[in-house]
Amino acid sequence: MSENIYVIGNWKMNKHLHEVTDFFDQFNISLHDMFASDNSANIEIGVAPAAIHLPQLSDATNFSLVAQNIASEENGAYTGEISASMVAEYSRYVLVGHSERRMFFNESNDILIKKIMLAYKYNLIPIFCFGENLENREKGDYLSIIKQQIEKVIFPVFSSSVFLNQTLIVAYEPVWAIGTGKHASPEQISEVHDYARNLLIDNIGNIKGSVPILYGGSCNSQNAKSILEQKNVNGLLIGGASLDVDHFTKIIQIAHGLS
Ligand code: PEP
Repeated sequence: MSENIYVIGNWKMNKHLHEVTDFFDQFNISLHDMFASDNSANIEIGVAPAAIHLPQLSDATNFSLVAQNIASEENGAYTGEISASMVAEYSRYVLVGHSERRMFFNESNDILIKKIMLAYKYNLIPIFCFGENLENREKGDYLSIIKQQIEKVIFPVFSSSVFLNQTLIVAYEPVWAIGTGKHASPEQISEVHDYARNLLIDNIGNIKGSVPILYGGSCNSQNAKSILEQKNVNGLLIGGASLDVDHFTKIIQIAHGLS
């Protein structure tokens, strides 16, 4: 089992600079108070702001920065892209394979493999997202979809021993639960996380440490505890509820209480 509980906020394309500043003025005080009373907690907090705000936050101490994206090419004539090496100057983690990137930017498995390899090259820890859509869920073939998503991206990366010393984090994010207010039930989450855990152990069991498996999809302060209590849930990836500093802090407090 992984030791840390991860609480990662994904802000997507939200917040202007003054809102980012306001958020962190309050957030830093809340985290400082929380950890002043108990700094032994095994909790890793991450925030993924828009890339343009990463430099602004690079002196963060109580939490880590997460990039929402990196380019799949290393450098060169790719107008508008931001490379892994540029992002790595500020960020510790990077999201790879988020369903919005797969859906709206047509990111294929080959692109995701390239991004993970570039992340490792520049010492970023990838958080690889996978999850079925509503149709797969209703048809009942979601586990085979999840298997394909993991085996087509993660297994090729770790098929050689080059990356076995690297850290990998994965996040189960059922597409039907993202931004819908309809989170997966603890039983549904448990089934997929247990399945993913076994798949990873059977196929890349020789990777360094155990792979944290996060859940994402309409997490909030009401459902965080019951989700985090599931055996193979090692943290949360939070969209909407991470935009509000009070709400996000409340979820962190819940995780802190369980860590
Ligand atoms: C996400 O987009 O990663 C996500 C989990 O969003 P939300 O919490 O808003 O469903």
